[in-house]
Amino acid sequence: MSGAVYLVGAGPGAPDLLTLRAANVLARADIVFHDALVHPDTLALAERAIKVAVGKRSGKHSTAQRFINKQLIDAAHKYTTVVRLKGGDPMLFGRAQEEIDALTAAGITLEIVPGVSAAFAASADLQVSLTRRALARSVVFATPREAAGSRENTWAKAAAAADTAVLYMAAGEAQAVRTALIAKGVPSSRPAVIVENASSATPSVFATTVGELPAAAQRVGAGPALVMVGEIYAQHHAQPNTRELQALAALAAVSAATS
Ligand code: SAH
Repeated sequence: MSGAVYLVGAGPGAPDLLTLRAANVLARADIVFHDALVHPDTLALAERAIKVAVGKRSGKHSTAQRFINKQLIDAAHKYTTVVRLKGGDPMLFGRAQEEIDALTAAGITLEIVPGVSAAFAASADLQVSLTRRALARSVVFATPREAAGSRENTWAKAAAAADTAVLYMAAGEAQAVRTALIAKGVPSSRPAVIVENASSATPSVFATTVGELPAAAQRVGAGPALVMVGEIYAQHHAQPNTRELQALAALAAVSAATS
């Protein structure tokens, strides 16, 4: 008899943006294989579990997917409850299918627990509906990041055609994103916003346009970030971003203390 593997969505970062089902599975877990970005408080819910970091962060050390698959299968032969904890929702840009296919082929019982994807956390931070009436009736989740062996890359065509485009893993490739979108007919004046560390206590919001994306992306820090494009973000132009607000508040505090 082998145990069951649960692919669990950890949510976008804030530890309380986790489903009750996820919390229950974590509490029962014998071993947890988790992404690098999972919050320590979320991991702490897996009180009795062995914790193994297998996170893939772009540009940093990564554990090869095939090795992760093998670790999950081996763990299922040894433990009753195995959790694979992934950022956001496991079924969106999380390489879930590789794990599902490998576990299914090995005859292992599998269950998937959804999570809050970064697009929804960022929209909550912005307080802008992805499908704001009269402006947006379609949303595309896309990534410019190419996987080896992927089919012809049609992300830009889809993103250009949608009223609202949410681009994952895109802030580091802002120049290429700009070029590709404009090549597909997106006006360089179309509003865009970059949201870094969505759902955290201090998300950063950079209001920009498609044409200015590379300059805006340069101001993004080391946190995970989404590039969101669409007319619905036009109103953000008037607003300074949270980092600027914090800097202004700090300056005001300093001048108040010294005057
Ligand atoms: N399955 C995840 C996405 C994994 S791909 C989900 O559903 O959210 C990783 C990318 O997600 C990052 O490069 C970034 O574009 C985005 N991302 C993840 N967490 C984020 C956060 N807290 N704020 C902004 N973007 C985030």
